[in-house]
Amino acid sequence: MTKEEAPLNFIEHIIEDDLSSGYTQDQLRFRFPPEPNGYLHIGHASSICLNFGLGERYKAPVNLRFDDTNPAKEEQEFVDAIKRDIEWLGFEWAEERYASDYFQQLYDWAVKLIKNDKAFVDSQTSAQIAEQKGTPNNPGTESPFRNRPVSESLSLFEQMKNGEVGEGAHVLRAKIDMASGNMLMRDPVMYRVLHKNHHRTKDQWKIYPMYDWAHGESDYIEQVSHSLCTLEFLPHRELYNWFLEQIYDTNKLRPKQREFARRNLSHTVVSKRKLAKLVAEKVVDGWDDPRMPTISGLRRRGYTPESIRNFADSIGVGKRENLIDVSHLEFNVREDLNKRAPRVMAVLDPVKIVLTNYPEGKEEWLEAENNQEDESAGYREVPFSRELYIEREDFKEEANRKFFRLTLGKEVRLKNAYIIQGESVVKDSEGNITEIHCTYDPDSRSGSGTEASQRKVKGTLHWVSVPHALPVEVRLYDRLFTEAAPDSDKERDFLEFLNPDSLQVVQAFAEPSLRNLKVEDKVQFQRLGYFVVDRDTSEGKIVFNRTVPLRDSWAKLGE
Ligand code: ATP
Ligand code: MG
Repeated sequence: MTKEEAPLNFIEHIIEDDLSSGYTQDQLRFRFPPEPNGYLHIGHASSICLNFGLGERYKAPVNLRFDDTNPAKEEQEFVDAIKRDIEWLGFEWAEERYASDYFQQLYDWAVKLIKNDKAFVDSQTSAQIAEQKGTPNNPGTESPFRNRPVSESLSLFEQMKNGEVGEGAHVLRAKIDMASGNMLMRDPVMYRVLHKNHHRTKDQWKIYPMYDWAHGESDYIEQVSHSLCTLEFLPHRELYNWFLEQIYDTNKLRPKQREFARRNLSHTVVSKRKLAKLVAEKVVDGWDDPRMPTISGLRRRGYTPESIRNFADSIGVGKRENLIDVSHLEFNVREDLNKRAPRVMAVLDPVKIVLTNYPEGKEEWLEAENNQEDESAGYREVPFSRELYIEREDFKEEANRKFFRLTLGKEVRLKNAYIIQGESVVKDSEGNITEIHCTYDPDSRSGSGTEASQRKVKGTLHWVSVPHALPVEVRLYDRLFTEAAPDSDKERDFLEFLNPDSLQVVQAFAEPSLRNLKVEDKVQFQRLGYFVVDRDTSEGKIVFNRTVPLRDSWAKLGE
C-alpha cells in the first residue's frame, strides 16, 4: 500500500473537513517547530513525517521553525544538527524561520496588550505567583499588581526590555481570569527577564517570550493553517486562541492548534532533556552514539532514511499515547536493508579449520552472489584456501542430531564453496580447541553443476580464508535500557535501568572485498546481521557497527 492509498489519518480528516467548509488548498501551510536544545530523536521523526507528509499530500509549504525562546538551553550546534537530520530524512522545508525573528513583533504586540488592559507587569517573585495559582478546584488569587495603571506597566515593561532590572524582578502577565477552570488561563506569564546571550540575537534582548505567547503568534505571522503539536498541549489550546484573539486581523488566516499523541519507543527514552543527561554523564559517546534513539544515532547505527520514514508511517498518527516496541523499528530497517545491503562474509568469534586434503599454498577465487534479493547487485569473488576461519559456535565436538553445523564425521557446506567434513581437533594444554581438521570434497564446489555439488547437506556456514582475512573491529549493540519504559517509574531514576552490556567490541575477520567500503556503507554479514561502516574507521582499521541481527537463524540460510 502506498502512502496515497493509505486511509486518511485523523489529522487529514480534520483538514479535509476544513477544505469542504471554506479553506482553499492554497491556504494550507504547516510547520515543524523544534526547540534547538538537543538533537532530534525518533519521536520527532513522527512529527516530521506527519507535517512534511501533509505538505506532500496537499502540496503545501512546510516551514522549519526553530522555537528559540530560551537562550539558556539553545545552541547553534543543535540548529545545525536538526537541519542536517531533516535533510537526511529526505524532507525539504519551504522556509527556515526562527521565533527569534519575531521578537520585535512580539514585543510590539505585548505593548498593545498592555495598552488594551490585557496584560500587566507583575513585580512579585515567581514563588509568590506560584502560591497564588490556586488548584484546579479552587480559584487563584489576583496579583496585587494586577490593577496597576497601564502607564506604569508600560514603563516597567520598557525597563525590563532595556535591561534596567535584574532577572526575576518583574514578569509580564496576561490579564485573563484567575478563576478559570483551566489553570493555564490564570494570568499566564508572557515574558521574563533573562540576561543571557542568545545564539542568534546575542545580547540584543533582555526579555524573552514564553512558549505560549511566542508559538501561536509565530504560527500567525507565518500564516500556518494547522499547527500540530503533541497532546500535552491540549489544555494550551484555549490560551493559544486567546492570544490570537488579541492581535489578529480578520483579513488574515487564523491558525488552528490540533493535537496528536506522542510516540514513545520501548527500551529507550525519547526526551531531549533525558538524552542530554546521557550525553553529559558520558553514558554514551555523544548525541550520535549508535545506541541513542536520535536520528543521528540511528543514522550512525546503519538505519536508512527510508526505514525511519516507513516506521513513522506504519505507526501512524494517533490520539492516544502508547509505547511502540523497538522490534517494530528493527523490523523496518531489516526490510529495507534486505533489499539494498550486499551480502558478505565475516567471522566474529573465529576458530581455525584446516582442510587437510587441500593443497598447501593453493588459492581459488570463488564466485559469490552479492544479493539474492537484487539481481542487479551482481557477483564478486571470494578467496578460498586451505586454512579458514569459521565461527567458534558453529563447531561442536559432540553434538546431538539437531546440530546441523560442523561436527566430527558429518558434512556441512561452506557458503559459496565446498562441502567439508570434520575429522579431528587440535587442543592446547588447557583443552581449548585451536584447530579443527577437516577434509573437503573437491567435486562439491557450489555452482559447478556436478552431482556432488548438488548433494543436500543440512547446514551452511560462513567462513573467511585465513591468509586473505581482513582484521576489522565490530561493535555489537544491544538495548540501552533493560526495561521497556525506563522513565515510567516515578520512584527511580531512568539511569538505574541502564543495560551494562549495551556495547560489546570484538576483533573480527572479514573477506578482503570489504577493504574498499566507505563510511556509512551497509552490508549484511551473512548469518549474523546488518552492519555499517562507522566514522571511527581510519587508514588500516575498519570499524563496523551492527545495525540489527538477522531475524532468521542459521538454519534457514540454505544454498
Ligand atoms: P523533548 O521533550 O524531547 O524536548 P519536545 O516536544 O520538547 O520534546 P520540541 O523540539 O519542542 O521537543 O518538539 C518539536 C515537535 O516535535 C513538537 O511539535 C513536538 O510536539 C514534536 N514531538 C516531540 N517529541 C515527540 C514524540 N515523542 N512523538 C511525536 N512528536 C513529538
Ligand atoms: Mg520542548
